[in-house]
Amino acid sequence: MVPIKLDEFVSQFVKGNPGESKKTIRKQLNAAVEAKQNGARCIHCGNTIWAIGSAVVGWNGCFTCITGEANSSDDYEIDAVCWE
Ligand SMILES: [Zn+2]
Repeated sequence: MVPIKLDEFVSQFVKGNPGESKKTIRKQLNAAVEAKQNGARCIHCGNTIWAIGSAVVGWNGCFTCITGEANSSDDYEIDAVCWE
């Protein structure tokens, strides 16, 4: 995955989703990052969660279960929890 700073992702996200509030997505991201640091697992398959995707969809999931795609090499993950 491609590491991105939390603030940078928040800016990009609200640009792409004008109806969303920065405060809300930031709060959800912080919670997802913390969950990942604490070892949260995908509720469907048990893999390590994708913090960005989990924050956006509102449940703990891995990249594949959230997007249906296997290849995450071009997708962002918050730098603090981007381990691959
Ligand atoms: Zn999964």
